[in-house]
Amino acid sequence: MKIYVNQIPLEGLILREEIPAAQLDLDTPVLRLTDAVKAEAKVSRGINCVSAHLTLRSALTAVCSRCLAEFNTGLDRELELNYPVDKTQNMIDLTEDIREGIMLDYPIKPLCKPDCSGLCPVCGADLNINKCGCKAA
Ligand SMILES: [Zn+2]
Ligand SMILES: [Zn+2]
Repeated sequence: MKIYVNQIPLEGLILREEIPAAQLDLDTPVLRLTDAVKAEAKVSRGINCVSAHLTLRSALTAVCSRCLAEFNTGLDRELELNYPVDKTQNMIDLTEDIREGIMLDYPIKPLCKPDCSGLCPVCGADLNINKCGCKAA
C-alpha cells in the first residue's frame, strides 16, 4: 500500500486496498493467513508529516497451542502510522509497517477456545472430546 504525498488533498483521503497474503509473508508455524488483508487507510497530511489510521482485516487459520487442532479465526487490527516527510519525498510505502503491525499483534500461543483442555500428556487424547481416564503423573 502506497501513499503519494502530492496527491493528498487538504481534507485527507481514504485508501482501500487488498494486500495479497503472499506479499506480506506473515505465516508462522502456528498461524496462516487464509485471505488477503483488506486494508483501509484514512490519510491526512500535516505540515511536515503524513499520518495514516489503518484498519486491517483478514482471516487466519491457527493451530491451538494446547490441543493442536486447527481453527479459523479473524484478524482485526487498527494501526496508527506517522511519517515525517520533506519536499523531496513523494511516496510512502506502508507495506512493511503494516506487516510489522500485524506481526506484533500475533498471538504466540493461539488457543482454539480460552478454556481448551488440551491433550492428555499420557495417551495424547484430545480432552475436549473425551476424558481418557489416564492418571496424570
Ligand atoms: Zn485447543
Ligand atoms: Zn490419556
